[in-house]
Amino acid sequence: MKILFASSEVYPLIKTGGLADVSGSLPRAIRNLRHDIRVVLPAYRGVAARAGKTKVLASLGLEGAPGEIRILQGRLPGTNVPLYLVDCPPLFDRDGGPYSAPEGGDWPDNALRFALFARAVCSLALDRAGLDWTPELLHANDWQTGLVPALLSLQARRPATLFTIHNLAYQGQFPATTLDELKLPPDWWSLDGLEFYDQLSFIKGGLVFADWISTVSPTYAREIQTPEYGCGLEGLLSARADRLSGILNGIDYRDWSPCNDPHLARPYSVRSQGGKADNKRALQEDFDLPPRDVPLLGHVGRLVEQKGIDLLLDILPELLARDLQLVILGSGHAELEQALLDLQSAHPRQVGVRIGYSEPLAHRLEAGADLFLMPSRFEPCGLNQLYSLRYGTVPIVRRTGGLADSVVDASPEHLADGSATGFQFDAAEAPDLLAAIERALALYDRPEAWRRLMTRGMQQDFSWTRSAHRYLELYQQLVAARQG
Ligand code: ADP
Repeated sequence: MKILFASSEVYPLIKTGGLADVSGSLPRAIRNLRHDIRVVLPAYRGVAARAGKTKVLASLGLEGAPGEIRILQGRLPGTNVPLYLVDCPPLFDRDGGPYSAPEGGDWPDNALRFALFARAVCSLALDRAGLDWTPELLHANDWQTGLVPALLSLQARRPATLFTIHNLAYQGQFPATTLDELKLPPDWWSLDGLEFYDQLSFIKGGLVFADWISTVSPTYAREIQTPEYGCGLEGLLSARADRLSGILNGIDYRDWSPCNDPHLARPYSVRSQGGKADNKRALQEDFDLPPRDVPLLGHVGRLVEQKGIDLLLDILPELLARDLQLVILGSGHAELEQALLDLQSAHPRQVGVRIGYSEPLAHRLEAGADLFLMPSRFEPCGLNQLYSLRYGTVPIVRRTGGLADSVVDASPEHLADGSATGFQFDAAEAPDLLAAIERALALYDRPEAWRRLMTRGMQQDFSWTRSAHRYLELYQQLVAARQG
């Protein structure tokens, strides 16, 4: 099968979150199943250089483009997946993030940047870029590629389209005048089109026009049809419920396995867990904490409301009255960053905080902590709980989205039948989080039971293979429906 996979971030070329991890590893897994999947990404500054050898494949004259758009061809590093880079320096060759300027705040021309990216993707999808390759399916991801299924819907001969929601909270909304500026069809300005509360919504392009919608866990697929999680789009999503499904993300065990992780102080595995203690001491050293044999709780992530770190802040006075340590790596909202730094200053022997983004430290934290906290208000899939399971770092999660689908709560029943892998709690409330942590600490004091819990988690298989098969089945079903 021939598939074009469009994404605005792909690990290891450019990453702001889980979307990049998925876009870097799902195509490789599909390729390993012997299908011709190719990835297309904007050529942000430095991306072409990181991709290694590239060649210019085509040059597109797209309406509204501030310059020539070139398609560069390379390979996704470490794989044999062909990679197309949409190269338009005035749009993408800048310092800063893929969506925001170095000083923060979205790029003011994001609508134009991702509309032109979408038009370039359509040229590739319709074999109008001179590649002599026609995909049967176009897989678009998140709002940045939302216009692709919409634009393709205008074509009589087109590939089947799948749109995957990685996080419904990010929708790509722009002022009403944008529709005109981007020369999009005027009749898209309606409730059944791209209009959303008097704004132009890019994500609606995917939600309304794609042949099928998927999201990254079965539970999130159900949740987003409710007002609590639907971000105002629950009506549309319920109306399309017969074309909406959830497939849990996998993780890439080549990058995330404690037996061959170059960032760790010492490797370990499910059969030889001794090295984990060395990683705990190394982590305590990384965070300038005394090397004590007390429970070490950890968190890595974006410091935003979604992740529920404020719940953790609420219970910390009570938590820190216990003999334990806490380490946090993250960046995000200034107030949360400051609150965490203040805690570190007040409790330097118990709390370690690093503000910033560090891939090596994220790996060391997964290896060195005993418990991993994910009190997310919502979590489409979540990756860190999957890494934690693999690293024998018991996750404490809110029962939502992919967290609900990947962690088995250590209830008496699940402890008895040996299926428990972590701790879950229901309400996004501080006392509920505290109660879950207390349950975990009580079990931590029973070394044999704890070891069984850790081991069960380490034995779980969240590799991409299973999820890749699910995507393939869906791809095949959509292509058959389109061609039939
Ligand atoms: P989201 O996509 O909502 O940010 P996920 O759990 O799906 O959350 O994916 C987050 C990814 O980003 C994980 O691979 C996580 O390890 C990584 N990450 C987030 N913040 C940091 C950080 N400060 N340093 C290193 N890695 C981080």
